[in-house]
Amino acid sequence: IQWTEEEGWHDARLQPYGPLTLDPATAVFHYGQELFEGLKAYRQADGSIVTFRPYANAARFNTSCERMAMPPLPEELFVRSLELLVDTDRDWVPTNVDSSLYLRPFLIATQRGLGVNSPSSSFMFVVIASPSGAYFTGGIKPVSVWLSEDYTRAAPGGTGAAKCGGNYAGAFVAQSQAVREGCDQVVWLDATEHRWVEEMGGMNLFFVYGSGADARIMTPALTGTLLPGITRDSLLQLAPDLGIPAAEGRISTDEWREGNASGELTEVFACGTAAVITPVGRVKGTNGEWLVGSGEPGPVTMRLRDELVGIQYGERTDSYGWIHKTA
Ligand code: PMP
Repeated sequence: IQWTEEEGWHDARLQPYGPLTLDPATAVFHYGQELFEGLKAYRQADGSIVTFRPYANAARFNTSCERMAMPPLPEELFVRSLELLVDTDRDWVPTNVDSSLYLRPFLIATQRGLGVNSPSSSFMFVVIASPSGAYFTGGIKPVSVWLSEDYTRAAPGGTGAAKCGGNYAGAFVAQSQAVREGCDQVVWLDATEHRWVEEMGGMNLFFVYGSGADARIMTPALTGTLLPGITRDSLLQLAPDLGIPAAEGRISTDEWREGNASGELTEVFACGTAAVITPVGRVKGTNGEWLVGSGEPGPVTMRLRDELVGIQYGERTDSYGWIHKTA
């Protein structure tokens, strides 16, 4: 779907997958005015195809648009575009367990011109789809994380809460450092003190305190520098209904290490569309290296994972209105 100042959103088209032809002077190539979303279409037990909270993605997309000086897309148009694509590609939605059709809506600035001071006045919204297999094969495997002090993902007033490509471009170097340190993923800290935990490379983080009937969960509050994950928001609603109190707060890397050592902090997990919930098993930073609990997936992590995956695949009742029948 194209957007221009004169016509607004127009020229919606469904076409076979293939290359886009763009002028080398197109704004997005030079100034990175781009943003995207990510969500999945699932095939449920009864054969219907659904998406998970697409209106939440539409709302986040429009918040990102505002931050990136791009035109918002009416939520209905965003969701209709997904429905049309999924319905057309319905045979591409995998049938095997834990598989899905990944949907990638994105918006780019298409005006030609190299002047940095003239914001683009034309944009293009595109959605592509790609079948995606199970994230974990052969059982759930906890990830190890590197606490990044050398690099900052997002600073106050920056674009951290928007899902724009530049946030990820600036993150690759820290992810490479994490791998060099023998870890799977980078954990971002705040820009000022480099000690408050924000989020993982592509997932939000939750901390589990206590165990059994006393277990409660906490996730870093949305300070404007981390992405407001839809899985994060879903867990904040779901956990209390399962008897697990959930809060937003903050935790420093020292508190993480000390809480782990004292046994007060029992589990840590990351959450996002791709893997839903991933246990964090090992942590490494300049303040030390430690196993989270036993290093194995914990019971609270697995319980929340089962519930959320159960809702997505239609095995559990969705009492939240999260499941959107798409095709
Ligand atoms: N943080 C970042 C930086 C991400 O890229 C993602 C994935 N979109 C998330 C968190 C998790 O968000 P969601 O639950 O909406 O997938």
